[in-house]
Amino acid sequence: MQQFQQYIGGAFSDGSAQFDSLDPATGAVWAKMPEASEDDVNQAVEGAERAFFSPDWAGMTATARGKLLSRLADLIAENAPRLAELETRDTGKIIRETSAQIAYVADYYRYYAGLADKIEGAHLPIDKPDMEVWLRREPIGVVAAVVPWNSQLFLSAVKIGPALAAGCTVVLKASEEGPAPMLEFARIFDQAGFPPGVLNVITGGPGAGAVLTSHPKVAHVAFTGGPETARHIVRNSAENLASTSLELGGKSPFIVFEDADLDSAVNAQVSGIFAATGQSCVAGSRLVVQASIKDEFLARLKQKAEAVVIGAPDDMATEVGPLCTLRQRDTAMDLIRRSVEQGARVVTGGHPIDRAGFYFPPTILDCSDAPDADSLTHEFFGPVLSVVSFETEAEAIAIANNTRFGLASGLFTQNLTRAHRMIRAIRAGIVWVNTYRAVSPIAPFGGHGLSGHGREGGLQAALDYTRVKSVWLRTSDDPIPDPFVMR
Ligand code: NAD
Repeated sequence: MQQFQQYIGGAFSDGSAQFDSLDPATGAVWAKMPEASEDDVNQAVEGAERAFFSPDWAGMTATARGKLLSRLADLIAENAPRLAELETRDTGKIIRETSAQIAYVADYYRYYAGLADKIEGAHLPIDKPDMEVWLRREPIGVVAAVVPWNSQLFLSAVKIGPALAAGCTVVLKASEEGPAPMLEFARIFDQAGFPPGVLNVITGGPGAGAVLTSHPKVAHVAFTGGPETARHIVRNSAENLASTSLELGGKSPFIVFEDADLDSAVNAQVSGIFAATGQSCVAGSRLVVQASIKDEFLARLKQKAEAVVIGAPDDMATEVGPLCTLRQRDTAMDLIRRSVEQGARVVTGGHPIDRAGFYFPPTILDCSDAPDADSLTHEFFGPVLSVVSFETEAEAIAIANNTRFGLASGLFTQNLTRAHRMIRAIRAGIVWVNTYRAVSPIAPFGGHGLSGHGREGGLQAALDYTRVKSVWLRTSDDPIPDPFVMR
């Protein structure tokens, strides 16, 4: 059986305890993972703090940091197939997507490699004749990064990339549900030539997460996960008063008007809810469709949903693989049962697939007669779409915004003026118009409300890992005048 190791202060170790990792495609144990103890977490944070103040890292120029990130990007690109294989094995995410996504992860590091020496301070036109005042942008310190199991390499790249570009150091806690790709990533990182302790990779559950995020030496917590865990993170941060950025779940509306290109809209909806087996924070999980085309749209969608190739995640032909955990399958079943009791109609799917592993089929629930169904308000994190219809633009906006989440949204229409009105009216961090599930290192990503706060990706994300220092330098040689008056 494969044994993975944690990475603390530049050294690899088995950890004092281990736990089993399951293969979601079979439900069987396939590897042993190191479970970070309280002592391991403390050592990781202390290692990161030592590295933060070490001349090797603190004294390195931003350009040199960028070069190391660039080298890391090359190594990720070289090792992408192996990382993809591990992510697929440990989380069940299909190889078709992990291969493409991990190759793109290298571009995220490249983007932040280029940004490292473009993080500038400022000179202020101060209102005093004998002063020079300028702002330095300095790294905030040790960053605790906590990620869920889905797309870990991607979700950690948007934290590690900007944090290291800014000069911070990082302790990353990989999810206990499938940490293999992050522990392997640590080995690749180690080859890039960063000073020891700049990145530390550990894994473990809520216990390790709580010690890490409340640690007095942590300055910022970058978290991706569910809203309930986020509440714990914010409470933990009351201990160290660390700043937080929270990328949480969603219940994103996918709005289709009768004038939309239906072929395109149907495909985008398939991608929005069934890709990644629906285990995507930006899943377009509420279809808000104009009543005049609802039957046709649903018929087309049902046909596509039933034609999806369900199979082993390591098969390139597979389109929908297993869910990552049994817990998620149970959550989906429970939510569907409740929603049906509340009046939702199952259009297709709805029951687990009878085979080993945590499989669940593409499912569509028509909630047109069940506007209060739980499936319209709760995140499944699985391939389950809930459908409601509307008559007017105003109704579409009201339904789309009837959520406590605010992460993503999709809009399908050929009408330019309507598109602009809708873009303004939709309350979400991302609006995709006539497309869905597109991302780039250049574009900020994030939401509000139960979807969290802060943005990942883009220039601002690197600035968010810095703090501003105001520097005052007196240019006069005259003695300081009246010491009892503020200058
Ligand atoms: P989760 O919230 O259960 O766990 C996320 C991470 O938090 C894990 O590493 C876990 O060990 C850790 N954790 C758990 N309890 C903790 C505690 N008390 N203190 C510190 N850390 C703790 O999430 P999950 O079920 O693994 O992932 C699914 C969730 O993640 C969904 O809600 C999904 O929408 C969200 N997500 C969001 C994005 C985004 O970018 N917005 C991306 C992917 C997933």
